[in-house]
Amino acid sequence: MSVEPCQNYVGRIALYHGPDTELELISATWQQPTGGEILVRITHCAICRSDVHTMCGRRQVSTPTVLGHEIIGKIVAFGDRAVLKDFSEQELSVGDRITWAIYAHCGECFFCRHGLPQKCEQLFKYGHEPVSPTGEGSSGGMADYIILKPGTPVLKLPDTIPAHSATPINCAVSTAVAMLRESGVNFDAETKLVVMGGGYAGLCAVALAKAQGCGRVVVFEPNCDLHERARSFGADVVWHPETFSKQYLEQDPSKLREHDVVLELAGSTQAAVMGLELLRNGGRLVLAGTVFPSPPLSLDPDQIVRRSLTIMGNHNYRPEDLECATRFMAGQGKNLPWDELIGAEFELAEAAKAVEYAKSHPGKRAILRLS
Ligand SMILES: [Zn+2]
Ligand SMILES: [Zn+2]
Repeated sequence: MSVEPCQNYVGRIALYHGPDTELELISATWQQPTGGEILVRITHCAICRSDVHTMCGRRQVSTPTVLGHEIIGKIVAFGDRAVLKDFSEQELSVGDRITWAIYAHCGECFFCRHGLPQKCEQLFKYGHEPVSPTGEGSSGGMADYIILKPGTPVLKLPDTIPAHSATPINCAVSTAVAMLRESGVNFDAETKLVVMGGGYAGLCAVALAKAQGCGRVVVFEPNCDLHERARSFGADVVWHPETFSKQYLEQDPSKLREHDVVLELAGSTQAAVMGLELLRNGGRLVLAGTVFPSPPLSLDPDQIVRRSLTIMGNHNYRPEDLECATRFMAGQGKNLPWDELIGAEFELAEAAKAVEYAKSHPGKRAILRLS
């Protein structure tokens, strides 16, 4: 009886030990995948705003861990029971360039069966799970390899999507898709949308809404240097929130209550409060930016009742949102100036520099190139 040689893959991991500590670069070994696993050679990992919130201590994670969940890579090997098709039913092979959902889910629990797979009772979230001090169990993007668990929605990336704009598809772009879907609104020429925050996800929401035919999109962004960029993604009007407040809200806010939907992606309670002011009767506020403990949102319930408002939260997305996001990036969205959202590229050995860049450039992604 012949025994297959057990192949190991040697690479590096940037271990995160907590806020205000240096990332620790260590070498690590990945085994051949087993069962339903897929081994992927990571090519790029973007540092998402939520990684920055973690590294600044605004949100707690168990450490050590390997951060980074906006990841793309190439398939190296399949476990013997791995699904050889992606979420769109395309065949998967070794060497394919792929993106995948930021989580693995069971597909059977209450939440998986009720449209919230991202809240699966057995959820496994890439770039969020603790690892051993020597890096075993690494599941983040700041590493050369990653093992995808069974139950991870995988998608083949069309060659036409450049690596830099493909990397944030599985977080920023997919979350924006999910927010528009969750709003329950059919975006047409009459629709008036407000997007709070002109960062990556905010501008994805602008572009997606415009592609669906949304009549008017207003963006609020406190950094005036980012206003022109918001227009290039399709915003009809861009406001500095304070200028707008002084000019309008302190006068007679009821005149401004004409917007169907407000998407909160600035990560600010104040932005949510302002958003509520701008909604028409029956309007909807979708919150997604505040992914860390924030000041309470104080509301007069009388306003919610009389104006028939809906307030909802949206965290992450469904696998079909990832599919829709990928299709958008390869199709209607392909000619948008995505490079303007990317700040700089770094090697894994320069991960600390990449983190500093991400902290000081809130409107742009730092990208790690792994291979
Ligand atoms: Zn993210
Ligand atoms: Zn489940």
